[in-house]
Amino acid sequence: MAQQEDVFKKLISHCKEYGFVFPSSEIYDGLSAVYDYGQMGVELKNNLKKYWWDSMVLMHENIVGIDSAIFMHPTIWKASGHVDAFNDPLIDNRDSKKRYRADVLIEEQLAKYDDKIDKEVAKAAKRFGEAFDEALFRVTNPRVVENLQKKEVLHQRFAEALNQNDLEALRQIILDEEIVCPVSGSKNWTEVRQFNLMFSTEMGSTADGAMKVYLRPETAQGIFVNYLNVQKTGRMKIPFGIAQIGKAFRNEIVARQFIFRMREFEQMEMQFFVKPGTELEWFEKWKEIRLKWHKALGLGDHKYRFHDHEKLAHYANAATDIEFQLPFGFKEVEGIHSRTDFDLSNHEKYSGKSIKYFDPELNESYVPYVVETSIGLDRTFLSILAGSYEEETLPGGESRVLLHLPPALAPVKLAILPLVKKDGLPEKARQIINELRFDFKCQYDEKDSIGRRYRRQDAIGTPFCATVDHDTLQDNAVTVRDRDSMEQIRVPIEELRSLISDKVDLKQLLKKQA
Ligand code: ATP
Repeated sequence: MAQQEDVFKKLISHCKEYGFVFPSSEIYDGLSAVYDYGQMGVELKNNLKKYWWDSMVLMHENIVGIDSAIFMHPTIWKASGHVDAFNDPLIDNRDSKKRYRADVLIEEQLAKYDDKIDKEVAKAAKRFGEAFDEALFRVTNPRVVENLQKKEVLHQRFAEALNQNDLEALRQIILDEEIVCPVSGSKNWTEVRQFNLMFSTEMGSTADGAMKVYLRPETAQGIFVNYLNVQKTGRMKIPFGIAQIGKAFRNEIVARQFIFRMREFEQMEMQFFVKPGTELEWFEKWKEIRLKWHKALGLGDHKYRFHDHEKLAHYANAATDIEFQLPFGFKEVEGIHSRTDFDLSNHEKYSGKSIKYFDPELNESYVPYVVETSIGLDRTFLSILAGSYEEETLPGGESRVLLHLPPALAPVKLAILPLVKKDGLPEKARQIINELRFDFKCQYDEKDSIGRRYRRQDAIGTPFCATVDHDTLQDNAVTVRDRDSMEQIRVPIEELRSLISDKVDLKQLLKKQA
């Protein structure tokens, strides 16, 4: 495990050193769980988006895309359950470093008073037998009365604090009641903080009574509220899907592990609308399609597995994760959920508008069921980097660090390297780039020895390097080196385009799934 952690650390510094991922706001010491993609990272990310987008929208006649706004009507988050579901007051114990819900700690304390009272009553009942008057005992026994009073006072304070959203009052209750941490046994508590995964902000000027709006915590709701617009204008027939790529925001409390858990991240989601009753069949189909998509990347089939949810969310009737073996274990990169008609029905209820689909074949209207595939772009990015990073020892004892990126996703497809910086070789190299730049991303590099230049390209995962040497000026051919095998072949310049294009084309990945 320690070795794996080491690999992970190296991967993080590799990402920084070669311009894949930088900590956000680094010169101000960073912003926790927020990252920026650098010059290489953005290329890889864009290629990855295109791979997903084309797999959905190009490869399926019945899937179309949208791009909905990040800001949405706040009632949407009420309907989806996000407003109510993510509101927990949290408190930490400084000694055990354990985090608790402040309201739960107080509820447990309330229950303790009840326990004490019940014990007194049970004891007395035993003692007095038949003659026991429980009602009288409860209002006259000093210990019961005292506990009851304490409980009432606590209950009242608790209700008030909750209703007024008074976190300081919640904390004071915990201190006054001398509630201890079950792990450390101490009363060393932090402040109480409201735990809501959603970020909110204000829209409009405060003077006019600004509206509280949320940064979406998932892209899916933008699809749900548009599904009928798309269905009608696109003349879509069920079953059909809507795909979307976009930013999502979650105020993750336990945020670590680099770009695995971020506060601002990107999702690629597809909601597939089906006839009620057919959703589990579609769920199985989408599981299979999505796993194939991942495996086509060639990082190793054994690194993927399904993980069915032990506990289903209230809206789902089936759910699974596709997990990838990262240096810190198998982790979720994509969720596939059968979300029933939960979201659409709730939007119908909250908006007061009918969003039923009219099925021309059945001649009836219904609220469709939804199967969703929801993949994290950043997590997939991380899985691809982790799965392709290698420190290789070469036969001569030398070593190199390389990224075995799928050629179609690599930021640079071909590096053109003049052997020396003179004798007309740089000009020849530029001439080749000028012809090929319309087809794929090329990079020119003339600095340092050819060996060091190869290493730099290996480190960013460039699948091919073409060296322009003195012979090139005579035979119009270059030496092409393959990143993985390091084999070199002589290729006429006029054949370069077709040779490289074929290997770096996204089609290579798309065809593997057909
Ligand atoms: P987790 O259990 O890890 O918090 P989740 O089950 O809440 O994830 P979903 O709501 O199913 O995640 O979101 C779908 C996908 O979005 C996830 O599979 C993941 O790839 C991505 N994702 C979710 N939260 C984050 C995050 N904080 N940072 C990066 N990606 C994320």
